[in-house]
Amino acid sequence: MMPITAPTTPPGLPASLDYPEVPVGSILAAGAARWGDRTAFAHDGRSLTFTETYRAACRFANALRDRGLGRGDVVALHLPNCLAFPVAYYGTLLAGATFSPANPLLPPDDLAFQLADCEAVAVVTYGPVAAALASVADRIPARFSVVVQPTGDLAEGAVEFEAFHAGQPETRPDVEVDLYEDLAHLAYTGGTTGRSKGVRLSHRNVVVNTLQHACWATGSVPAVDAHGDVTLDQIGGEDEWPSRLGNGVVINLTPWFHAMGIVGGMNSLVIAGTTVVLHSRFDPAAYVADAERLRVTGMGGAPALFAALLATPSFPTADLSSVRAIGSGAAPMNHAMITALRERFPGVVVTEGYGLTEATMGAVIAPTYRSGTRKVGSVGVPIFDTEVKIVPAEGGEDPLPAGERGEVCLRGPQIMLGYRNRPEETAAALAGGWLHTGDIGVLDTDGYLAIVDRKKDMLLYKGYNVFPRELEELLITMPGVAAAAVVGRPDVEVGELPVAFVVPRGSLDAGELMAAVNEKVLPYKRLREIHVVEQIPVSAAGKVLKRELRQQLIGELD
Ligand code: AMP
Repeated sequence: MMPITAPTTPPGLPASLDYPEVPVGSILAAGAARWGDRTAFAHDGRSLTFTETYRAACRFANALRDRGLGRGDVVALHLPNCLAFPVAYYGTLLAGATFSPANPLLPPDDLAFQLADCEAVAVVTYGPVAAALASVADRIPARFSVVVQPTGDLAEGAVEFEAFHAGQPETRPDVEVDLYEDLAHLAYTGGTTGRSKGVRLSHRNVVVNTLQHACWATGSVPAVDAHGDVTLDQIGGEDEWPSRLGNGVVINLTPWFHAMGIVGGMNSLVIAGTTVVLHSRFDPAAYVADAERLRVTGMGGAPALFAALLATPSFPTADLSSVRAIGSGAAPMNHAMITALRERFPGVVVTEGYGLTEATMGAVIAPTYRSGTRKVGSVGVPIFDTEVKIVPAEGGEDPLPAGERGEVCLRGPQIMLGYRNRPEETAAALAGGWLHTGDIGVLDTDGYLAIVDRKKDMLLYKGYNVFPRELEELLITMPGVAAAAVVGRPDVEVGELPVAFVVPRGSLDAGELMAAVNEKVLPYKRLREIHVVEQIPVSAAGKVLKRELRQQLIGELD
C-alpha cells in the first residue's frame, strides 16, 4: 500500500505550497511592514506593536553581534511567556544565532544538563528564576546572561535585559544563514519519558511549518513582500475560513518554550497579524472574563485548558460570540470534551492537530475550513506536503493497510535534521527517510489519522497490548469522573496491570466505577486498581506526566 498524502486539499488552495527561501526573522520583518501599529503582544497592561517588536528585536540582535555572537552560536531562553520573549527570540534569529528554549521551572540538574548539552553561549533568564541559573553557572559554558526583570543584585557576568539592547541600531544586521543547515531552533524534548534530547531544526523547517499551519488555518498561500520577506495572501473566502488575516485576537497560555507555543502561538500568529494577549498563569475565570472583554476570535491550547474551561462556572453563559475557531493539540482530547465544546459553540470550527518537536511542531491537522469533514476521535489529515504511514509497532518499514494499528511515521519538509550529538538515536528515528514518532495510530480509508496511544505508554499484559487511552476514554464518560489517567503496575507474573488514577467530580465509588468499566472491556484490559486523587500531574505543555504516576505506584511498593 502507498503512503497516504493529504486526501482533502483545502478548497481553493493548492495541494502543495511554494515556500519562500527566507530565514525565520523574515516572518517578523514582514509582520512589522504589514501589520505595523497593530498590537502584536500584550501583557499586564503593557503592549508591543508589530513595529515595536521588530525594532526591539533588531536592537537585541545588534547587541548580540556586538558581543561577537552570530551563526553557529546558541542563545538559550530560560523564560516564561513575557513581552521580552519575542524580542529575544527574533533578536537571536536575526543575529544569525540559534534559539534554544529552556523551561524556566526546570530543576537545577536538568537545567545544567540542557544548557551544557546545547552549549549555549548566552542565556536570557527571568528575575524570579535567575537564581536557579546562577546556581549552575559553574556547570555550563555560557559566557554571560541577560536578565529580564531582575529581582535582586545581578550575578557576575549578568546584564539587565533593557540595558543590554538599549541604544542599539534598529536595523536588521546583515547576516548570511544557510537555510537548510543552520539551526533556528535547538529544542529539547523527551523530558516526560526519559533523558532530554536536542532536536535540530533548520530555518527552513521552522518557516515551512509556520506556513503550513498559518495557510491551513486562514485559507492563505505564502507570498513575498516588496522587501523579499515572507507573508501570506488570503485566497480562501470568509464563508469557508472563519480565521482571517489581520483581525485575530487570542489569549495565549501555551508556553513559548514548547513547539506548540513557538510555532503555533508565536510565528503562525505574527505572520497572520493576530494580536496575542498573554496571561502569566492559567486562571480559568480570568481567562473567560478576558476572552469576553477582548472579543477573542480564537481559542487554542492543550486539552487541559479546555477541560478547565468546561468546568468553569462562567464559561457556559459568558458572551463568547466573537470566537470563530477552536484548536487543540499536544495531547489527546477526549470525545466527551470535543462534544461539549461543539455544543457550547455551535457553528464554530473545533479542530485537533497532532505533532511533535521532531516535526518542528505539527504534521496532521483536522480541516479548519467549514466544509471540511472533522471526525471525532481523529486528529485529521496530513498538512500540506506531508505524508503519513503506519508501520508495524514491532519493526519493519512496509506500510500497514488502513484500519490497522501501528507506529505513526511522518515525511515532510518540517521534519528535523536530527538529534544533537546522538547519531544512533537520529538514525533510528529517521530510518528509511521517515520520522518514527513513537506514537501508535491508525489511518482510516479516507486518510484520517487517529492516535491510539504512545508506544512508550502501551502496557503489555500476558503478551497482549493494552492501550491506556482506550480505558481513559471510557472512564471519562462515567458519571462522577472529571479526569483520568491509566498506567501499568509492573507485575512479575503477567507483565503489567492496568491501574487508573481518577479525579472525582462530586461523589465517586471507586469499586462501582471499576465494575462499570470492566464490564465494557475484554478481560485482559480490565482495571485492577483505581486511585482517587485530587489532580493528575500535567506538564507545562499540557501532557499527562505518566512517568510520575508510574513512580507513585512503584514508590508504593517500596
Ligand atoms: P512534544 O514533542 O513535546 O510536542 O510531544 C509530542 C507528543 O505529544 C507526540 O509524540 C504525541 O505522543 C503527543 N501528541 C501531540 N499531539 C497529540 C494529539 N493531538 N493527540 C494525541 N497525542 C498527541
